[in-house]
Amino acid sequence: MRRELAVILFAVCIVVLHQSLAAAHLAGAGNTTSCTGFNRTEDRSVTFWYSSLDNVTAEAANWARTNSIDPTDVNTSGASSSSSADVIVNDANYTTYCGYNWHSTGTTVGLARCTTSHVSGNFQGYCDQHNIYIDTSYFSGTTQFNQRALLAHEIGHTIGAYHETGTTVMVVNLPAPTTALGTHVTNEVNAVFPP
Ligand SMILES: [Zn+2]
Repeated sequence: MRRELAVILFAVCIVVLHQSLAAAHLAGAGNTTSCTGFNRTEDRSVTFWYSSLDNVTAEAANWARTNSIDPTDVNTSGASSSSSADVIVNDANYTTYCGYNWHSTGTTVGLARCTTSHVSGNFQGYCDQHNIYIDTSYFSGTTQFNQRALLAHEIGHTIGAYHETGTTVMVVNLPAPTTALGTHVTNEVNAVFPP
């Protein structure tokens, strides 16, 4: 049994302000498109589409890709269309999307979710397309550091990173201590996405 299979049911890919979650590893072929499952993108080349983002969200996404994700063996680039994108980034003042209590009344400020998974072929079970959702009511009232960390965190989920403890952007509590994925996650990412 591959290690990834053991952690599928553990997946909860939300960021909350005050909640703890145990450390985990890297998601594999989760074969889920639910609001709570994980399955990482299929390979190291990850294309992005920004869905009419606020400038500040787009800037944070660009920053996170360049400084937190691209230093790993994953390479991000712009997609030629939304339909072909591996990751679509969305922002809005969410309230109850996916059943969570978003920032206006609750603590959820970001979400990464696989919306289309590969149902057959070499990448069966891996995610064909993720969507990231960023809460604008949180975003507009927080620091640039937190904005960058939130995007790095959610993009980290799309390449398989689970929540971690310690000095990594994948901690579940905000504010994150750093915008970096950290050695543990980076090593695992590089192991599953060899150049
Ligand atoms: Zn998370």
